[in-house]
Amino acid sequence: MYDVVALGELLIDFSTSLTDADGYPTMVAHPGGAPGNFLATLSAYGKKTAFLGKVGEDAFGRLLADTIKKAGIETKGISMDSRYFTTLAFVTLDGNGERTFSFARKPGADTQLSWEEVNRTLIDEAKIFHFGTLSLTDEPIRTATQKAIAYAKAQGKLITCDPNLRKPLWKSEQEAAEQILWSLSQADIVKISDDEVDFLWRCSPEEGAEKLLLEHGVSLAMVTLGPKGCYLKTAHANIHIPGPSVHPVDTTGAGDIFGGSALSRFLELDKPICHLTEEDLAYIGRFAVTAASLSTEKPGGIPSIPEKKQVLKEMKSL
Ligand code: ATP
Repeated sequence: MYDVVALGELLIDFSTSLTDADGYPTMVAHPGGAPGNFLATLSAYGKKTAFLGKVGEDAFGRLLADTIKKAGIETKGISMDSRYFTTLAFVTLDGNGERTFSFARKPGADTQLSWEEVNRTLIDEAKIFHFGTLSLTDEPIRTATQKAIAYAKAQGKLITCDPNLRKPLWKSEQEAAEQILWSLSQADIVKISDDEVDFLWRCSPEEGAEKLLLEHGVSLAMVTLGPKGCYLKTAHANIHIPGPSVHPVDTTGAGDIFGGSALSRFLELDKPICHLTEEDLAYIGRFAVTAASLSTEKPGGIPSIPEKKQVLKEMKSL
């Protein structure tokens, strides 16, 4: 039995290392894609996970499948397709480690996963089905995601969603908003950032969490606030958790590492969401905020996931 199966994108993030005299960056390749970072975090914290997705049958695709496997994630749900190239994302950073994205993805292999190719046995064997919104930007992966969610829901699986905006990947902002709002209404647990709340509703993180519960039927809303930590809310409890003091160099994957860490703690509590108390939300949020913040001190997504014992040590100071 798997704790979590996730469907979505797998890609290579090229981040800036140095700039030459003409301003051209020297790029360093890191494994990327939100669901991979998310599952790798769960796996690092002792949970059993599996991936559903597609890469190109090329050097980068093989590298990604290998990285996912080394992260302890089941890879039999990853197909390799020789007709498409693995998606490449170029991430440029400003002085505070904040990112701008450009994508070479026309179409990237990850978007070409069809419902027929989705390994349903992995969904059957998982407690939780997770998805992000970047698998809704293009067909056929959009239909594959929609059908996989319906399939998982029909079996009573818990559904978790981490919306991701990345404006250059959508045809329009309106399409992005429509798809993200649809995704939120499918999920029991949502991890969303304050920037995404602002994009969708132009409201505060607290009002955004309230909307998730009342208008989208979400049971646990987790709003991340960048360096300011997070805000968690259920129908019966809510809590603000500040972030620890860190020295960020690269925030890539911090949100995914927050989501994976939070879900690992939720699984450890082994309680229905409606029974979570304020103490339970603190148990989830303090660990997740600490893990995500520590990850910003190292470059990349998966390589920056901190060890559990380091997280437990650092969170004592919160
Ligand atoms: P992503 O861009 O990966 O999708 P996100 O926008 O979903 O991330 P954020 O709110 O930026 O999520 O950050 C998630 C968590 O990462 C925060 O709750 C915090 O713990 C940590 N974090 C992010 N940025 C910083 C920062 N500059 N300094 C310290 N911690 C940070």
